[in-house]
Amino acid sequence: MKLTKTDYLIYKDCAKNAWLKVNKPDIYFAKPLSVFDQGIIETGNEVDTLARELFPNGVLVTGLDAWKETKKLIKSETAVIYQPVFETDIYKTICDILVWDSVLKVYDLYEVKASNSGDNKKAKDELYTYDIAFQYLVIKELNIPIGKLHLIRFNNEYVRGVELDLDQLFLKEDFTEKVMDIVDGVSSEIKVAQDFLSSEKEPFGPCKCITRGRSSHCTTFSYSNPDVPDYSVHDISRIGMSKRKLEELIDSSIFLIDDVPEDFPLSEKQRNQVTATQLDKVFIKKDEINDFLKDISMPISFLDYETFAAGIPRFAGYSPFNQITFQFSLHILEEKNEEPKHTEFIFTDNTNPDEEFIFALKEKLPHEGSVITWNKSFEMGRNKDLAKRNPEHREFLEELNSRIIDLMDIFSEQHYVHPKFKGKTSIKYILPVLAPELSYKVLDIQEGATASDAWNKIVKGEYSKEERLKKIEQLKTYCKLDTYAMYAIWKHLNDLI
Ligand code: SF4
Repeated sequence: MKLTKTDYLIYKDCAKNAWLKVNKPDIYFAKPLSVFDQGIIETGNEVDTLARELFPNGVLVTGLDAWKETKKLIKSETAVIYQPVFETDIYKTICDILVWDSVLKVYDLYEVKASNSGDNKKAKDELYTYDIAFQYLVIKELNIPIGKLHLIRFNNEYVRGVELDLDQLFLKEDFTEKVMDIVDGVSSEIKVAQDFLSSEKEPFGPCKCITRGRSSHCTTFSYSNPDVPDYSVHDISRIGMSKRKLEELIDSSIFLIDDVPEDFPLSEKQRNQVTATQLDKVFIKKDEINDFLKDISMPISFLDYETFAAGIPRFAGYSPFNQITFQFSLHILEEKNEEPKHTEFIFTDNTNPDEEFIFALKEKLPHEGSVITWNKSFEMGRNKDLAKRNPEHREFLEELNSRIIDLMDIFSEQHYVHPKFKGKTSIKYILPVLAPELSYKVLDIQEGATASDAWNKIVKGEYSKEERLKKIEQLKTYCKLDTYAMYAIWKHLNDLI
């Protein structure tokens, strides 16, 4: 077994998970990659390819025997090599870019990450340092002269002009010193990791995530923890933030929410979720809901946006990973006892949709009344982005934001607690409980990441003419349900009080 960089990095995070990947791939890969994760991989590949233009005229290693090919290129002191592969008896690594320094007679290494310079910098820098250190050690072991070690990532302050300026878009950072600081430790660690992952004996003992909230669990959690039910104490709202509480429950072998003792210390919101589950009872604060609904004025606009976050900025005014706001659905309720009227907008060209999106909003959105969204920070954030890129429409977008009310607040503030919400406030959890006749499950597009992906493929021309039309209809149906769902939930609440 040859230890790869990816397996080493998984091992660093969790040795057991890495062991399952290497030795029980059927378990590790049992769940297909989500559309969201596939999108991350695709963006990574696009960014890798683009970054090569910083070092033009390189040779791309593509052959079946990539290591043999790499060796030849290195021997002939090829100026720039893309995707070289290095193998020892026990290690294997692929690099992004090697550049020959003809003065010092060494290769400089460039690792490319589809990542913004400012986001979560400390943790990411640490991870990238280990990533580069692994590559460095493998190359060094093969006695290939290696010089500086660099990281290339997005400059998060970059704003695209008409043309993409690669020298401004990418930051090249020297990681040599950072790598040298840890390289001895990594050298020992990769030997241990290779040994551990080569062993056929499955690691025994508890999974460390048993004391972490659900969102921290990897895809093999259920395999390693068969005693933990699908809905367990790990799903108590924000329990992952208080590791001690979870530890206490697990130490007492309490997995079921039904078994959480009455006097166990929980926050008020956590206790409400637990009580609703244990008593299988719905809790509704009618006065609070009434107060909330009283603040909503007619006509009511139920509004929802769909977006795509492009790593490489596609249009002037965009920065890396800015959201492209390409679609909205709007249900307008003029009178309380009427059915809402539906209208929508979708932009399907590979050009900047900002102006048309704003014009459509101006044309279709009522000039007065409340605007209802679900998780308002998203729509409000997009309006702020639009205003920043299109200052001539700032006043309109700011006024729109001032009218937005977040229907999710009813559930996040726990004015309404239902055991079937399972402590969640996403509309995908609330809708099937309050309006079971409406369902995302029957739709071809059922969630935001799939909608983003479909739109990206539409504008990049990856569908046939027929498929394209079908996808556009599917996007409309999906977004329409989002706003009709808000109306249905609003109606349910109104009927309650
Ligand atoms: S659930 Fe956590 S501890 Fe268990 S295998 Fe996955 S990452 Fe490792």
